[in-house]
Amino acid sequence: MKVGIVGGGQLARMLALAGYPLGVQFQVLDPAADACAGQVAPLIQGDYHDENRLAQLAAWADVATFDFENVPAAAAAILERQTMVYPPAEALAVAQDRLAEKTLFWELGIPIPAFATVDSLVELYGAVARVELPAVLKTRRLGYDGKGQWVLRTEADIEQAWRVLGNVPLLLESFVPFEREVSVLAVRGRSGETAFYPLVENQHRDGILWQSQAPFHAPELERQGFDYARRLLERLNYVGVLAVEFFVRDGRLIANEMAPRVHNSGHWTIEGAVTSQFENHLRAVLGLPLGSTAAMGCSVMLNCIGDLPEPAAALAVPGAHYHAYGKAPRPGRKVGHVTLWADDPAALRAGLDQLAPLVDASSG
Ligand code: AMP
Repeated sequence: MKVGIVGGGQLARMLALAGYPLGVQFQVLDPAADACAGQVAPLIQGDYHDENRLAQLAAWADVATFDFENVPAAAAAILERQTMVYPPAEALAVAQDRLAEKTLFWELGIPIPAFATVDSLVELYGAVARVELPAVLKTRRLGYDGKGQWVLRTEADIEQAWRVLGNVPLLLESFVPFEREVSVLAVRGRSGETAFYPLVENQHRDGILWQSQAPFHAPELERQGFDYARRLLERLNYVGVLAVEFFVRDGRLIANEMAPRVHNSGHWTIEGAVTSQFENHLRAVLGLPLGSTAAMGCSVMLNCIGDLPEPAAALAVPGAHYHAYGKAPRPGRKVGHVTLWADDPAALRAGLDQLAPLVDASSG
């Protein structure tokens, strides 16, 4: 079983680490010579527009998959000529454009914030009148981890937001005064079999995921989230892991965005679920039976942004599991995560009181 991965970041790296016990071989394609998945799998160094490199990967692989969604549509088409490609190219196209994503959510009856497209300063004034403030101006494409976003609180912010983000297609959406953020990780196999991980609660700092806790016990929200994720899986004829991020407001879910890949808010599944999201993504794209998505005990995942804590200090906390991605430290960069696992919430809280200050002290 040979899996070619487009993109050689930490998600590709953790896919490879999960796949070796199954007997899967990997090659990853990435423009960077030091892409961190290249430390654990053969790296084809090349641009995502490079037809020869894409063809080389596709000729070798039984199936191609992705570790990020902003793969050029032409690249997916080249791969599809020579090998199976999962998730489907349509899922990538939808996730690449916030307008296409919101349109699909709306068509499927998945609640979304009020929004308007913005292609000029005049349109921005019109959008502010319709959507009302506070609101968030976002680039339609290539936004991630809070990049390409500007919060508008008063009309005085309009011109500055336009100066910062203007000249690319934009979307203004209403600011959701959410009580919390949650995500659903769903997986669908080639046979149409589906499975859902327990609901995850996420906390962000400066637009970047900071902590995920699972399982988050909220049966009614979980039911809504699974229902919405299932609609997406079926409509897209999806194969692989799909993540959907939601705001929670007044006991209801409002969809923020989806990611057609394994997701940062699912890293806890490595230690905290019977089958990790990485293994289940591989099982799905390879046409193998899916594994149980049940949680074992309770987990919290802390992202290490910028730098990592000392392994000896972090691992001294009972239940801590350390994941370094092999990336050079740099402010704002995701360089690893630590998952804390415990039998019960009280033990988890006690461990978190020890671990969180260590991770915070090294992050930045
Ligand atoms: P995104 O890149 O769209 O996932 O946004 C990153 C983070 O910014 C989200 O997880 C929220 O914490 C915050 N955010 C994005 N859009 C909104 C919104 N419409 N209302 C409130 N907060 C938002």
